[in-house]
Amino acid sequence: MNWNEKIEQYKEEMKQDLAKLVSYNSVFEPSKEFPFGKANAQCLEAALAIAEKCGMRAVNLDHYCGYGEIGEGTEVIGVLGHLDIVPAGEGWNSDPFVLTEKEGHVYGRGVSDDKGAVVAAAYAIRLLKESGLDFKKRVRLIMGCNEESGSRCLAHYVEKEGSLTYGFTPDATFPGVFGEKGMISAVFSGKPSRLISVTGGSVSNVVCAHCVTRMPAGCCDSKKLIESLTMAGLQATLQQEKEEWVLDVRGTAAHASTPELGVNAISHTMKALQEAGLEDDFVEFYNEKIGLGVHGEHCGIDVQDDYGSLTFNNGVIETKQGTISGTIDIRFPVTMKSSQIVPVMEKNFQSTKGQLMILKTVEPLFFPRESKLVQSLLKAYQTVTKDLVSEPMTMGGGTYAKGIDHCIAFGCEFAGEDNHIHDANERLALKQFWLQTAIYAEAILNLLNLD
Ligand SMILES: [Zn+2]
Repeated sequence: MNWNEKIEQYKEEMKQDLAKLVSYNSVFEPSKEFPFGKANAQCLEAALAIAEKCGMRAVNLDHYCGYGEIGEGTEVIGVLGHLDIVPAGEGWNSDPFVLTEKEGHVYGRGVSDDKGAVVAAAYAIRLLKESGLDFKKRVRLIMGCNEESGSRCLAHYVEKEGSLTYGFTPDATFPGVFGEKGMISAVFSGKPSRLISVTGGSVSNVVCAHCVTRMPAGCCDSKKLIESLTMAGLQATLQQEKEEWVLDVRGTAAHASTPELGVNAISHTMKALQEAGLEDDFVEFYNEKIGLGVHGEHCGIDVQDDYGSLTFNNGVIETKQGTISGTIDIRFPVTMKSSQIVPVMEKNFQSTKGQLMILKTVEPLFFPRESKLVQSLLKAYQTVTKDLVSEPMTMGGGTYAKGIDHCIAFGCEFAGEDNHIHDANERLALKQFWLQTAIYAEAILNLLNLD
C-alpha cells in the first residue's frame, strides 16, 4: 500500500489535531472530579473526538483512559499511547503548549512523548478504514492519562476491558523493544556516628547530581577530601559554618537505566570522606554495600545475560531524626526473575551499621526475537522504511507493555534521534510524523492478518 500518498491529504489536519492535544497542560494533578486532573480529562475528550472523526467508536473509561474502536469480533488489536505529560520545566524557546513549527520540526510538550504517536495512530486507522479494509478483529486505539506517574490508567483499562490479542505501544523506539528489564525499588538506611546530615537528589530514577554533607569541623583531612573529589571529576567546595563543615559536591545526572553515563555525587562523597580519614558507621556501611558500583558489584548482584547487565542507582539521600536513608533503583536483565536477585541482595546487605528494605519489584518483559508479534512489527517497519539494518532491542526503561499481555513497545522515535523527551524544546520532525503514521498502518494490518 502506498501510504505516503494517502497521508498527504491529511498533513494539515494532523498538525491541527496535534496542536489541540499539545494545548492541554496534562500533568498529573488529581482532583475530586478527575483521577489525574482536569487538563488530562479535557485532553482525553479532545483525543476521543479525534478518534471519532477518524472513524472509531469512542469510549471514555471514567477519565482514567479511553479508546477509539473499529471492527468486530472477539479478538482485539491494541495500540496504546498516552496523553499525560511530565511538567514542561524551564528553558523553552517557544511556548510549550503552543505547537510551533520551525525548520521541519514541530515543538511542544508531548509531541514525541506521546501525543504525536496518538494522532499518528488515529490517522493510521483512518487510512486503513478508507482503504476499504474489512476489520475482522477489533482495533482499539487506547489512550491513557497516567503513564508518567504509575500507569493506573492501564490497570483500570485491564480491569474493565481485559487483555489484548496483540498490541504495541508507540512510546519508545523503532523497530521495537522485545525486552524491558525488571525493576527493584529499595531504600537503605543507617545511623551516622560522626556525620550530621547528608542531603541530595530529588528522584530515585536519576543519578544524583548534587549532594550536601554536614559534619563536625575538623573531622577529617579537608585537603584530601576536596582533592579526591576534584580528581574524580566532580566540583566540590568546603565551607565552615560555626562548628560545622558543609561539603557541597556536584556530579552529573543521567537516567537510572544508564547510570554509567552519570557521575553520582552521593557515591563519590562517601568514597572521598573515607579517603580523607573520616571514621563513620554510615560511610563505612555505604562504601561496603554500595560504593561506586553502578551494577550492584558491592552487594553481589552484578548479573548479566545476552541482552545486558543489571544497573544500580542511588538517586536520593536524606537525613531525618539522625537517620540517613537513600533510594535504590535497580533494572535487572530481561531473562531473569526478581527472586534470583532479591534474596542475594538482602543477604549481602546484612550489617550492624545499616539496613535495607525492598519496596517494590516488577518482573521483566521478554518476547523471543523470533515471536510472531516482534516479527510482524519488524516487518511493518522494514516494508515502510526499507531500513533492513536496524534491529529490535531491549531496554532498561518501562512502558505500558509491562502492564498488559501480548504487547511490546514499537516506535515512535527512530534510532539515533534526540527529540528532547522530558526536557525543554521537545520536538518531532514532521517527516517522522508522517513516517510513523505509515508504519502504524502497516503494523496494524500485519497484526490483523496474524492467526
Ligand atoms: Zn511516554
